[in-house]
Amino acid sequence: MQSTPQELLRWAIEEFGHSFAVTTSFQKEGMVIVDMAARIDAKVRVITLDTGRLPDETYAMMETVRERYGIRVEAVTPKNPEVEAMTLLHGPNLFYREDSLRKLCCEIRKIRPMNSLLDGLKAWAVGLRRSQSDSRAEVEEKQQVGERFKLSPLAAWTREQVEEYTAANHVPVHPLYARGYSSIGCGPCTRAVKAGEDERAGRWWWEQDVDKECGLHVTPDGRMRRALDVLLEEVLTARNA
Ligand code: SF4
Repeated sequence: MQSTPQELLRWAIEEFGHSFAVTTSFQKEGMVIVDMAARIDAKVRVITLDTGRLPDETYAMMETVRERYGIRVEAVTPKNPEVEAMTLLHGPNLFYREDSLRKLCCEIRKIRPMNSLLDGLKAWAVGLRRSQSDSRAEVEEKQQVGERFKLSPLAAWTREQVEEYTAANHVPVHPLYARGYSSIGCGPCTRAVKAGEDERAGRWWWEQDVDKECGLHVTPDGRMRRALDVLLEEVLTARNA
C-alpha cells in the first residue's frame, strides 16, 4: 500500500535520525514537508542552499522557520574561491548570456555544494511534485540514489492539496507568492508568472526550449554536460591559479 507523506517521513526519521534532512528553498511544498517532519520530530534537520543570490524574502523565511518551529536552518554555501573565479571569468550575471553559463552558475552555486551536503546524509526529502512540470512527471516518492534515499513525499500531490494542507495547518508561506511567484529560487533568475503560464515558467524565463531545472533534479544532456565540463574546468583552474 502507498505510504502517506507523513508515513514516509516518519520512516526516514526513525531509520536515519540525524543522517536525514529536509532540504528546502521554502516554497510551499518544502514548507509542508518541514511542517509534517517537525510534528514527527521537533529536532528534524532542515537544510537550505544559500547560493549567495537568494531574495531577501528567503532569508526572512529562515527566521520564520526558526521562530515557528524552533528549528535552526542549516545553510550550505558554495565555495568562495570557486564563486570568485567564476565571476572573475564571466561576470556576476553570467546566467543571462547563455544556457551553458547559466548551468555553470547553478553547478558552482548549487550542485557542488549540494553534493558535499549529501555526502553527510543517508536520506533527504525534497518538495517535488509530478504535476509541477513535464520534467517532473516521473518523480518517485522514494528513490535510491547510490547509497542514499531521495524522498519526494508530495510526489503524487496536486497544487490544491498543498494549498489545503498549508491553510489547514497555518504553515508559513513565502512572501513572494503574494507577489505572483509560483516557484521560488535565486533572485535574478526567478520572476512572477502570468495567468495561464506553467508553474515553472518564472524560472530562467529568458531561456527557450531548455529544461527548467538547475541540474539538482535532472542530469543535463550530453552536449550540455560537455559544454559545462569545459566551463567548469576553466573555473577550477582559475581558482587554483
Ligand atoms: S538560479 Fe541563477 S543565480 Fe542561482 S545558481 Fe542558478 S544561475 Fe546562478
